[in-house]
Parts: sequence; C-alpha cells; structure tokens
Amino acid sequence: MDSTEVINEDHVILTRLDDVANLIRTNSLWYLTFGLACCAVEMIQAAASRYDMERFGMIPRASPRQADLMIVAGTLTNKMAPALRRIYDQMAEPRYVISMGSCANGGGYYHYSYSVVRGCDRIVPVDVYIPGCPPTAEALIYGVLQLQNKIKRRQLIQR
Ligand code: SF4
Repeated sequence: MDSTEVINEDHVILTRLDDVANLIRTNSLWYLTFGLACCAVEMIQAAASRYDMERFGMIPRASPRQADLMIVAGTLTNKMAPALRRIYDQMAEPRYVISMGSCANGGGYYHYSYSVVRGCDRIVPVDVYIPGCPPTAEALIYGVLQLQNKIKRRQLIQR
C-alpha cells in the first residue's frame, strides 16, 4: 500500500478504497489458459515451476467468466478472431489484455498473409504489448509487472 495508510495504537489501518481494491486486483490476476501458437509455450513456461507465476497470485483459468486477464499468445488468424472476441466479451469487468509476441502485436512473420490479423488490437483492446519472437518467459513476467503498475494507477471512485 502507499503512504496514505495510517496505523494507530489500536491497530486500525486507514487507507484509500482505491488502494485496497487495486492491491487485491494486482495480486489476483487470473488468466485464461488460451494459447494460439508457439508463444503459448513460453506462456506455459512462465507458469511452470521455474518461473512460477502463481507467486504473483496468477492462476490459469479455463473459463473466461472467472478470468481477469487474456494473454494473446500467438498468431491470430481471421478465422479465430471472432472466437477471440467472443471469449473477451464473456470475461467480467475489469478485464485486461496482454499482447504477447510479434504475431499478436502486428502479424509478425505472417504480416502479409491473407489469413492473419495484423495485430490483435484490431479485435480486442490491449493494455500491454510484449515484443519478441517469441518473447521469453521473463519478458512475459515483466509485462505482467507493467500491467500491475497500470492497474495500481486506476481510480475506482472517479473524482
Ligand atoms: S511471435 Fe514468433 S514465437 Fe510467437 S507465435 Fe509468432 S512466430 Fe510463434
């Protein structure tokens, strides 16, 4: 929490509602088990024992209704795009998207292919882009930390 918290002799903590809500959100980013191509292997690596994304409260979920985060890991084809959008629409608010790798960011090697979407941000709003082909598991974790920083700045109650 930030410096607005106060702990007095009765062990009462005073802080902002925004800080509490954002603390909970940043440390419970449940993400969809959703991979489109080779980048998904790095996403799996980040979840496995070596990097262990559960340290950050990140748990893979098979249902979009229980997921906060979509990691678009791989090449998004035109045929898959409507399904991606439908899954995104089924996620509850607030929801976040990480675009992982060159293919998701802009089509990558397949930029000029007839069958590939030139960036998943044409289909869903993206919060964080991770460059590389493929990005390493460390790069994905760095992207997650950037997303956490973004969520911490979010104001629940607009002034
Ligand atoms: S960015 Fe590279 S590693 Fe990732 S899905 Fe595309 S071709 Fe595969």
